[in-house]
Amino acid sequence: MKSREIRLVRRPVGAPTPEDFSVESVTVPPPAEGEVQVRNLWMAVDPAMRGRMSDAKSYVPPFELDKAMEGPAIGEVVASNDDAFVPGDLVFNRLGWREAFNAPASALQKRDGDALPAKAYLGFAGPTGLTAYAGLLRIGGLKPGDVVFVSAASGGVGSIACQIAKLKGHKVIGSAGGEQKAAFLRDELKLDGVIDYKAEPSLTKALARAAPEGIDLYFDNVGGDHLQAALAVANDKARFAICGMISQYNVTDAPTVPRNLTMLMVKSIRMEGFIVLNHMDLWQHFMADVTAWHKAGLLTQADTIYEGIDRSLEAFFGLFSGNNLGRSLVKLA
Ligand code: NDP
Repeated sequence: MKSREIRLVRRPVGAPTPEDFSVESVTVPPPAEGEVQVRNLWMAVDPAMRGRMSDAKSYVPPFELDKAMEGPAIGEVVASNDDAFVPGDLVFNRLGWREAFNAPASALQKRDGDALPAKAYLGFAGPTGLTAYAGLLRIGGLKPGDVVFVSAASGGVGSIACQIAKLKGHKVIGSAGGEQKAAFLRDELKLDGVIDYKAEPSLTKALARAAPEGIDLYFDNVGGDHLQAALAVANDKARFAICGMISQYNVTDAPTVPRNLTMLMVKSIRMEGFIVLNHMDLWQHFMADVTAWHKAGLLTQADTIYEGIDRSLEAFFGLFSGNNLGRSLVKLA
C-alpha cells in the first residue's frame, strides 16, 4: 500500500513555514507477525505539535528530523496479524501526519463507530474533550455560582470547555478573534459574554465590562495579555486552570505580559497548569458524561475540515493565524 506522510526537515524558529516540512510517499508493506495495518481516516492538528518541532526538553520528546511527525488520528484496520483486531475496526492512534501505517496492537485503541461519528473521537470524545473536562472540573474545581472565562473559546478545547460550563448552569464569557468567531460563541454556544479580542483596545476593560461581578475560574488557552486581563478581573480565591499559552508558542523574545502576577498573592488566586495525559484516570467518567450530554443535545462539535494530507500543513498553520473555528481536522480518506 502507498502512503504519503509529512516530515519535519528543519526545526522552525518563530512561526513555522512550509519549508520546514516535506511530503514523502512511502510503501507500507504487508503487516508482520503481531502487527496491524491501518488506513487513517481523520487526523487532528494541535498547537502542542509546535512544541515538538523544537528540541527543547518538554513532557513529550521532540519530533525527529526527516521522519513522519505524530499526532492524534482515527483510522480503519485494513489487515491484522494480531487476534485483537479485524479489518474494519475503527482505531484511535497517535500516528497522524500519514495516510497508512503498520503498528503493533499496543499502539491502537478500538473505538465504537456506531456510538459516535469517527471524528468525534478526535474532538469532544477524545483527548481534546478530556482536556476541557479535566481542566474545568478537576484543575479549575468548577463550583456552583462560578463565573467562568475561557480564552480561545471558539477552538477545539475552548468550545468544549464553554459548553460544559454552560450545561452546568454557569455564566460563561468567551474570547476569540474576529466577528465570525464572536457570532459563533454568541449564537451557537449561547455564551453570556463574548469578547472579540482583535477588536478591543483593552482586553482588561472588555473583560471587566463582560463580568462586572469578576471571574472565579479562568480556563487559559492563550496566556500573555489574556492571562493579564484575567488576573486583573479575577475575584478573591479565583482558580486559574492553565491549559495552554498559544500566544507564546511562536515568540522568540522574552514575554512582556502578564505584568501583574502579584495579583496571585493579593487575591489568593490558585493557578495550576496541567497536561491531559496525567488525567487519563478520568476517562471512563468523562466518556459516560460526554456521550450522555451529546445524546441530550447539550454538547456539539464545530470543526474546520481540510481535505487530504496535502492540506494538513495549512490546517496546522490555521491554528496560529486564527483561520480555524472549532476542532481542526484533516480528512484523509
Ligand atoms: P484551538 O482549536 O483552540 O486553536 C488554537 C486557537 O488559538 C486558534 O483558533 C486561535 O483562535 C487562538 N490563537 C492563536 N494564536 C493566538 C494569539 N496569539 N492570541 C490569542 N489567541 C490565539 O486549539 P486546541 O483546542 O487544540 O488547543 C487550545 C489550547 O489548549 C492550546 O493552547 C493548546 O496548547 C492547549 N492544549 C493543552 C493541552 C494540555 O494537556 N494542557 C491539551 C490540548 C491542548 P482565535 O482566532 O480566537 O485567535
